[in-house]
Amino acid sequence: MLKSPSENIPIQEIPIQKNVKLFIKREDLVHTQISGNKYWKLFYNINNYLETQPENPLIITFGGAFSNHISAVSATGNLAQVKTLGIIRGEELEKKWTHNPTLVFAKRNGMNLKFVTREEYRHKEKLTEFLQYEFPEALIIPEGGTNKNAVKGVKMMLNNDTKDFDYLCTAVGTGGTLAGISEFCEENQNVIGFKVVDDSSLESKISELTSKRNFHLTDAAFGGYGKINDENVRFINNFKSNFDIPLEPIYTGKMMQKIFEMIDDDYFPEGSKILCFHTGGLQGIEGANMLLEKQNRNLIL
Ligand SMILES: *Cc1c(COP(=O)(O)O)cnc(C)c1O
Repeated sequence: MLKSPSENIPIQEIPIQKNVKLFIKREDLVHTQISGNKYWKLFYNINNYLETQPENPLIITFGGAFSNHISAVSATGNLAQVKTLGIIRGEELEKKWTHNPTLVFAKRNGMNLKFVTREEYRHKEKLTEFLQYEFPEALIIPEGGTNKNAVKGVKMMLNNDTKDFDYLCTAVGTGGTLAGISEFCEENQNVIGFKVVDDSSLESKISELTSKRNFHLTDAAFGGYGKINDENVRFINNFKSNFDIPLEPIYTGKMMQKIFEMIDDDYFPEGSKILCFHTGGLQGIEGANMLLEKQNRNLIL
């Protein structure tokens, strides 16, 4: 079972010399191994499932080689003593997963890994049907963990402390987190989603998960999903040395760089209070640095 933390997650001000105020809510601190928004997206999925007391509980999910979601599900399985199976994109990883820190972590948490081709992975719905047939008792969570229960869990990222902000910002992968913030925030709050994937169907997918039209999407892909950008690495390193807050290069680093650009462009009216959610994902830094090192590029410090 996942618990709600006994104390509120801290909100820190990021001191910038501008006419707006910027804050960050440290959801990355919610749990040492189940990080950020993934904790909340899994919360009801896992707890509701375990409440049904399945005889042979098994959690199955999908993800890429460096997936924060795979990492989080494996750690949850370890914590709850439930078997987990990760369907991983890329059959070539079968031979080299021991060089991938995310997959090593998952395996160490007891997750079984099944590597499938990109083609098979693309047809996840078929795979899901097949797996549910093979494991009728299993809980199958979609890629990135987004579903109705995930959206409901995101409500717990909002509380009295978050009510006072004009803008709520989050990075967007599948859009479940943004949908939850949109659905459960205050009437007068504006929600901005920073798209790190080029996916033109995101807006309509999110609209199916929230009843509100209080959100706005902006592009923050900086070259595409999962692509690490050298300028962004510099930004992340400066951010850490200036504010002592770590960001990662797939979601939060890109969101924050884009927010800084928007502030510089006077996107936000004077006096605005902006809150961005640190959705975690710091486990990905190690894998990112391995890649950068191979390419002789600057590392994330
Ligand atoms: C998964 C993830 C997101 C995106 O969440 P969605 O609900 O899929 O949009 C954002 N930030 C981090 C760190 C993540 O791991």
